[in-house]
Amino acid sequence: MKKIDLLCTKCAKKYSINEPNFRCADCGEPLEIEMFTNSKFSDRSERNILKKYSDFFPFENINPSLSLGEGTTPLIESNSLGRELNINLFLKNESLNPTWSFKDRGTYVALQHALKLGFKRIGTVSTGNMASSVASYGARADIETVILVKKGMAKEKIIQTYVYEPQIIEVDGDYGSLYYESLKLGKEKGIYFMNSDNPFRVEGSKTIAFEIVEQMNLSSPGFVIVPTSAGGNIRGIYKGFKECFLNGLIEKIPTIVCVQAKGCSPIYEAFINNKTEIERFENPHTVARAIENPFPPSGNAVLRLLKENNGLCIAVEEEDILKARIDLATEGIFVQPASAVSLAGLRLLKDKNQINENSNVVCILTGSGLKTLSNINNQGNIKQRSIKELNSLL
Ligand SMILES: *Cc1c(COP(=O)(O)O)cnc(C)c1O
Ligand SMILES: [Zn+2]
Repeated sequence: MKKIDLLCTKCAKKYSINEPNFRCADCGEPLEIEMFTNSKFSDRSERNILKKYSDFFPFENINPSLSLGEGTTPLIESNSLGRELNINLFLKNESLNPTWSFKDRGTYVALQHALKLGFKRIGTVSTGNMASSVASYGARADIETVILVKKGMAKEKIIQTYVYEPQIIEVDGDYGSLYYESLKLGKEKGIYFMNSDNPFRVEGSKTIAFEIVEQMNLSSPGFVIVPTSAGGNIRGIYKGFKECFLNGLIEKIPTIVCVQAKGCSPIYEAFINNKTEIERFENPHTVARAIENPFPPSGNAVLRLLKENNGLCIAVEEEDILKARIDLATEGIFVQPASAVSLAGLRLLKDKNQINENSNVVCILTGSGLKTLSNINNQGNIKQRSIKELNSLL
């Protein structure tokens, strides 16, 4: 590995990347790999994110055979929705990843790290998308994989995870505490837990920003809207833009927008109350299950990031999330409720006049609609017709 350190996101204490260090021993906050400088993008035709952006990763060499084709997702310019909102709206469609969510970027990167450190077992804690992602890459690498899932995970997601044959344990208890328990168990049992805000997973997410910068011809949008739960993805996306800025690839870092579902909004609550630390959100409940983390492990780090960036934070209602999901379908894109949160957030910001007309806005569409088939009207109540009737119907 290259000579670069992990730094605490709060106190800046240094840690080695050659050991499984995930959180600061002093303040408990998440660690982050130092900013990469003197770096540039390589060949546009390269599709492997670790090769294409190798200057921005700590590895001297990687195992490319672990790749399943993560990343290189399209940035689609919206037609009708952008026009309706009087902005230039771009949709970064992460549902095109190998297991149909952005999680695959970070899983691929963290897996390289786990193997470099000599781990023989990997694991994760998940509400769904992380489970299928880690199980899939675990199968690909032929390594023992432990998946701790929350009770009541969407059926589509649990089936998708079982297919890859990891060890799945359903745990009764909140996702927030399970995270800390897993890191403890990982240390004792030699399991590399690549959870939601693992520093290498965050590095994977930053390639979303790199791709947006390239897709916008080395410029940056005005706003990037990110559905946020644990906080790993938004941290990665921000770091990606910041590294582009520090390396002279863009002139300005976009305004980062953290969106949560009102039914589980610990970061939003802290943000509007000007607090520097989140509190556990009691009785969380939202249709956006993939972002239902009542005690996000990177919550405080996200608050610091928003402060540094002058970023925005909002929370959206259930009915607006479901409406946004259908609106995206009118553009031909089918996402899960957690992803529709970004468009619902954009609508709300527009109503509050926090986004100017003609701004360039990117919504991150984090995962596929096929992973969550409930909450959709019109399920299978189609009337059957005979072939003879067709003539009169068309
Ligand atoms: C994991 C996930 C999120 C939230 O990402 P965090 O890194 O936990 O903030 C949002 N949407 C989907 C579909 C996800 O799977
Ligand atoms: Zn610290």
